[in-house]
Amino acid sequence: MYRTAAICEQGHVLSAMYEAGSLPPKHCPKHGTKVYMACTYCHARIQGAPYGAVSAPGYRAPRFCPECAKPYPWTLTQLERAQSEIDRHLLKSGVSSNDADSIKAFATGLAAGTATREQATGIRSVLQSLGPVGSVIWDQVKDFGARVLADMAKP
Ligand SMILES: [Zn+2]
Ligand SMILES: [Zn+2]
Repeated sequence: MYRTAAICEQGHVLSAMYEAGSLPPKHCPKHGTKVYMACTYCHARIQGAPYGAVSAPGYRAPRFCPECAKPYPWTLTQLERAQSEIDRHLLKSGVSSNDADSIKAFATGLAAGTATREQATGIRSVLQSLGPVGSVIWDQVKDFGARVLADMAKP
């Protein structure tokens, strides 16, 4: 059994050990952003530290709801950040808007866990044709994907 976690929109863990009945602040005292204790889609509570633990130093904000597999709000915040980074580089690269859209759709798929290997291969070859800017973007996509995958692989 697990306690409930309170996590702000920035992915910052206010507490991994909220007790039933006690409520965290509505907004993060550090970031001023909304604080969540449940999935915004299916309302399943966010799993915190196990009952019996006195502290949870290794606890990190989960990226996806284990109940409905939708990304949590902070995952979307990070995705938006990654996408605007990608946008910034795409503007410089002169990539077609079609390709730009599929690159961004791929990043969204990564966050949602639906991206396929075929998509990755397609994106990769588009980016390779762009030269150095393409590899910067590819690194960003890869970095974002690696963080998502690392978190998904966690028990
Ligand atoms: Zn915060
Ligand atoms: Zn959910």
